[in-house]
Amino acid sequence: MQVIENKTIKKVVDKYKILWSLGYASALMSWDNETYMPKGAATERGIATSEIAVLRQKLFLRKSFSNLIEKGRKLSENNELNIYENGVIRILSRDLRFYQKVPKKIISDFEKVKVEAEVAWEQARNKDDFKKFKPYLQRIVELNRKIAEHYGYEKHPYDALLDLYEEGATSADFDNIIAQVRTPLGIILEGVMNKKVFPQNHDLETEHYDKEEMRRLNLRLLKILNFSPDTGRLDESAHPFTIGLSMNDVRITTRYKGENFKEPLLSLIHEFGHAVYEQQINPMFVTLPIGSTQSLAVHESQSRFWENHIAKSREFSESFYQLMKEHLPFLEKYSADDIYYYMNIVKPSLIRTEADEITYHFHILLRYEIEKLLIEGSLDISEAPDEWNNKMEEYLDIRPVKPSEGILQDIHWSHGSIGYFPTYTLGSIAAAQIFNRMQKDFGNVNNLIKSGEFTKIREWLREHLHQYGSIYSPREMIKICTGEYLNPEYFMRYLKKKYLNQ
Ligand code: MG
Repeated sequence: MQVIENKTIKKVVDKYKILWSLGYASALMSWDNETYMPKGAATERGIATSEIAVLRQKLFLRKSFSNLIEKGRKLSENNELNIYENGVIRILSRDLRFYQKVPKKIISDFEKVKVEAEVAWEQARNKDDFKKFKPYLQRIVELNRKIAEHYGYEKHPYDALLDLYEEGATSADFDNIIAQVRTPLGIILEGVMNKKVFPQNHDLETEHYDKEEMRRLNLRLLKILNFSPDTGRLDESAHPFTIGLSMNDVRITTRYKGENFKEPLLSLIHEFGHAVYEQQINPMFVTLPIGSTQSLAVHESQSRFWENHIAKSREFSESFYQLMKEHLPFLEKYSADDIYYYMNIVKPSLIRTEADEITYHFHILLRYEIEKLLIEGSLDISEAPDEWNNKMEEYLDIRPVKPSEGILQDIHWSHGSIGYFPTYTLGSIAAAQIFNRMQKDFGNVNNLIKSGEFTKIREWLREHLHQYGSIYSPREMIKICTGEYLNPEYFMRYLKKKYLNQ
């Protein structure tokens, strides 16, 4: 079977190959930034990535290429293309629109400031000094505002930014989702705190682990999950992440702090979820625009599917109890049930990445609201740390006392990413919807977790979601995978059943 048959689209994807290659090089450089690049190299790395970004724009805007995309768009509108070709044109039209509308100078400035901002953010966070990061955040907000103005939007400048991460999403859509989940989440949280079945603290949080042993345990888990070292690798970084260079080279990271073993374990499983999505895309899509994932919400649904629905299940703790004990001898004093409750501590806390499945979304809401205010220009950067702390107090009744527990905790803004956070909540909601759909086929997915039959789960995800790459828009993809558009009801049902037994 040939994926691309139409003559025009054949020319398009042929010309796209150089753009794909530049994207590949940038992704590899960005992986290196986070893992092994000496910190002193930030400035010249910024120049190099910025030059590549500008070159990408230049090649995209070549008349010989942009005219072909326009031609392809007409073919698509006239229903003359197959689903793969339509996908190619949908994605390239979006990219083309970005490059046509956002001036070269902004793209280049943005790339440069990102690399330096990350180094500044890390130093600011280590010293707990917001002032060190403030001028970079200021620049990043200004540049994002300019991008939004050039890229265009209907109602709110934030919509333009959100659309770059989540095709077609608007702040009105997200407001609508938030309106559906906010009150129920508060009620569930209150119920959990009153019932006291799920703990707020656990002795396992302070147990020290041997970093080398933890690493070995993680590698064994990856092997069981069938993450092959031939097509992926595991490294360490300050902030765990996944980069897929192609379906045959997907790199994940985790971090080892020496205590609280669920942190490296759950972040490993989370990143594995991202990785397996990339690895299971139809191999015929390699070098095509549809061969890379576009929607961050769908991507996050995959990481959260594995982290929350698989690794935080009771069956997972039972199934891996013996294996965990081999590498973490302190577990002799604890039962599999202890591990389950330790994995599912619920309490209002300051750090997003450590938050439970319920309070997590208040962390997102806070960031979303602050980003919107910053982009509108109705909140000054110097007021942002206080705004953060006030909202934290309002939503979760706790107040950060230092910036590293508040506004400086996340890497995202230093990467230039504004409009990214909502995709985490959308991803959690989609994960529950996908899990629910999977239950219909398997009866009880938790039985598969218990018996370690992860291949069946992986194969289901390949068949219903992963293989498609980016052929469809995220909204349509969710419908194809689950039978309906994104619906927060499944997420609410899942939380109520798990945490309140309702
Ligand atoms: Mg993620």
